[in-house]
This record gives sequence, structure tokens and C-alpha cells, in this order.
Amino acid sequence: MSEQIQDNYREVRKKINETCEKVGRKPEEVTLIAVSKTKPLSDIEKLIDIDVIEFGENKPQELRDKFDEISTPVRFHQIGHLQTNKVKYIINKTVLIHSVDSIKLASVIEKEAAKRNIFINVLIEVNYAGEDSKFGVSKDEVLPLVKEIADRFRHIRIRGLMTIAPFVENPEDNRPIFKGMKELLLDIKSQNIDNVDMSILSMGMTNDYLVAVEEGATMVRVGTAIFGERQKKEN
Ligand SMILES: *Cc1c(COP(=O)(O)O)cnc(C)c1O
Repeated sequence: MSEQIQDNYREVRKKINETCEKVGRKPEEVTLIAVSKTKPLSDIEKLIDIDVIEFGENKPQELRDKFDEISTPVRFHQIGHLQTNKVKYIINKTVLIHSVDSIKLASVIEKEAAKRNIFINVLIEVNYAGEDSKFGVSKDEVLPLVKEIADRFRHIRIRGLMTIAPFVENPEDNRPIFKGMKELLLDIKSQNIDNVDMSILSMGMTNDYLVAVEEGATMVRVGTAIFGERQKKEN
């Protein structure tokens, strides 16, 4: 059974590489983040055995606990919603916070980072489809938020954008969202805002990561296709 996770990872990576070739991108432009939320450390270790280092967690406490318990250092991404009172748990344990969507959250990240004299890489989470159930800012709010964070917070480095696309039966239905996200990224990049480096586009999950790669994702976050189904659906 244990090799199943390794085989799954290799299969996902292979499909990403083939898709890159198909659309004329370089496979190394796309980072595969193995989303290990709710899964035990032993599952993460299976992947460490085949040299995987990028992992994603959505709950800050879980990221913190796994970071503290793991024997081999890996790169943990905070991909889920982050409440301001949880920032301190993960501030020095994550390589990238994918889910910044307010000045309030950014100001707490700034404060915690300044205290420790470190710099924090973040993405702005965009609720592109405008779903009520989702966190993230609307596409019109992205540029003002980027400008304000870049202007006010010295310890935060904005590296790009992230979105969680709607769950759809047919991944093609999300193609316009992924296209729109790429346009938004390029649009903001073209403004050459000081202290902002719009190079990362985090989008695509088990159901739609290949469409996201075709449309320019530089990070895909894949859980189920690698680790199998999770206990609780909403996780
Ligand atoms: C759970 C989760 C994923 C991975 O979802 P799968 O459908 O299992 O691949 C990706 N991104 C975020 C933010 C998540 O919470």
C-alpha cells in the first residue's frame, strides 16, 4: 500500500510534465505541492523517501504540529484560510502563505514578521468566481490590496496570486477562471509596483490541475490524487 502514494505522486507529476510539453511550457515552471492535510506524517514520509519537498496544509495548527514533529525538513505551504490569531503558529514554519485576503491579516503578518526580523512570502487569494462560500478578494479588489500591502508592510513580499476554483464536474468549466487569473497576474506585473514580484500563480487541484497548467499555473495544489480520499469531504 505504501508505494501507492509514491506511484500516485509520480503519475501526477508525469501528467503535469506531459501537459507542459503539449502547450510549450517547461515542466520546471510548475511546482507540484502535495496537499497532505488530514493525512498522517507517515504519508508525508513516503514522499520524502522519493525526494518530495513541497507540501501544503490548510489548518495552521496542523502545519505547526507536522513541522515540529517531522524529522526531515520540508517546505510547508499555508494554503488554507488564515485567521489573524493563528498567524503566530506558522509565521516561521511556512515558505509561502497562499491565502492573504485583507489588510487586517497582512498587518498581523507584518507585526509577527517584524518581531522576528524575517521576511514573509505571500500570495493574494482571489475569489475569482465571486462565490459566497469562499474566502479571497474579488478581482477588482486585488490591485488596491497589493498596492497597500506593498506600500505599508516592509516584512511582506507579495509573490503572486492564488485562487480556489469552484468544484465542477467538467474541469473545462474552470478554464475561463484560470485564463482570467493569468491576465490579472500579468496586468499587475505590468505596473511594476515596488516590492512586488508577480511570478507565482497558484491554481489547480485534483479535479482541474491540468487545465490550470495549460493556462499558466506555476503552482498546483494536489491532495486527493496523491494521498487518496480524505475522511471529511469539506477538508
Ligand atoms: C484541500 C485543498 C487542495 C487540494 O484539494 P484536492 O481536491 O484534494 O486536490 C488545494 N487547495 C486548497 C486550498 C485546499 O484546501
